[in-house]
Amino acid sequence: MSCDYVQLANPGVQTLQPYQAGKPTDELGRELGLTEIVKLASNENPLGPSPDVLQAIQQATAELTRYPDSNGYHLKTALSKRFLIDPEQITLGNGSNDLLELVARTFLREGVESIYSQYGFIVYPLVTKATGARGIEIQADRYAHDLDAIAEAVTDKTRVIFLANPNNPTGTYFLTDAFSAFMQKIPSSVIVVLDEAYSEYATHLNLPNGLDWVNHYTNLVVTRTFSKAYGLASLRVGFAVANKEITDLLNRVRQPFNVSGLAQVAAVATLGDQEYLSRTIDANTYGYQQLANGFDELNIDYIESAANFLTINLQQDALPIYQQLLKMGVIVRPLGVYGMPNHLRVSIGTDLENKHLLMALKKVRV
Ligand SMILES: *Cc1c(COP(=O)(O)O)cnc(C)c1O
Repeated sequence: MSCDYVQLANPGVQTLQPYQAGKPTDELGRELGLTEIVKLASNENPLGPSPDVLQAIQQATAELTRYPDSNGYHLKTALSKRFLIDPEQITLGNGSNDLLELVARTFLREGVESIYSQYGFIVYPLVTKATGARGIEIQADRYAHDLDAIAEAVTDKTRVIFLANPNNPTGTYFLTDAFSAFMQKIPSSVIVVLDEAYSEYATHLNLPNGLDWVNHYTNLVVTRTFSKAYGLASLRVGFAVANKEITDLLNRVRQPFNVSGLAQVAAVATLGDQEYLSRTIDANTYGYQQLANGFDELNIDYIESAANFLTINLQQDALPIYQQLLKMGVIVRPLGVYGMPNHLRVSIGTDLENKHLLMALKKVRV
């Protein structure tokens, strides 16, 4: 006899819309029989991994039959040296999405609330709703977080505030002064998650470095990832930094082997390759200008971005254009799920990839 399993699911899960990932290259290749595909859909590092990573992984394959180090000793040590943080303040995650979920599972439940911005990263409402908590979305100021409005929305039900700096999918950001004024208004009983997935790209701007603030604000949880500038999206590794008490709580909820052994050695290796990181940032600066110039020539509006992507406004339903780009082998990200149906998010690629995209856009626009 069949059964309505939806009714059996947790209330928050019943209405949950699954995360829509960027279309994989492989899948588009199979669908259209294309061999040359440019994927600019998931803000990945276009340069390929650091050579040090490949070597480290090669060596670590001898240990594939073993469980990874549950406490990530070597990775925490490397992070601690690099960012001058106490290892006891670090939580490792299977990507930083894992950490966002850990915060939600630790502090949210039915009857309480989290706050995030309109156009904020979609994982914030997802992890909130899965716990049965209510998500409060605060209207953006143009495309950016309105920190004043977010602070004003705090009530005695608020447990977590999610901020992304820079934000995905808008690339918008807030500066140090605005952040510190914001933090002073937030009670220490409300956890502030500062998601810095793209902070490495924004070092030319006066963005707050969350890692410097963790010891000033006991309620601050900073998340970072190896998926973007460090070039390890496939391996799934990120970290959170917070005070020891919160770190201990997150680690109670964390699965013991959430970060694979290969991910741990790769993260240590990529952290050690400063040249790779600066090459990545240089390529991004170059690509940003290349795309910005190209969009200007095509009369396409874009949102100023501090990250490794640009979000363009086509002033019309962007989905047909997204489809036409797909047929030309270019994968970008439609933003309908964000309530931005006229926008497309384009990751900054290599010189050649960017040219490819601009050529394809020119064809679909004329
Ligand atoms: C890509 C991204 C992440 C990182 O995701 P991982 O799980 O670390 O791959 C986190 N936050 C934002 C805003 C992102 O865009």
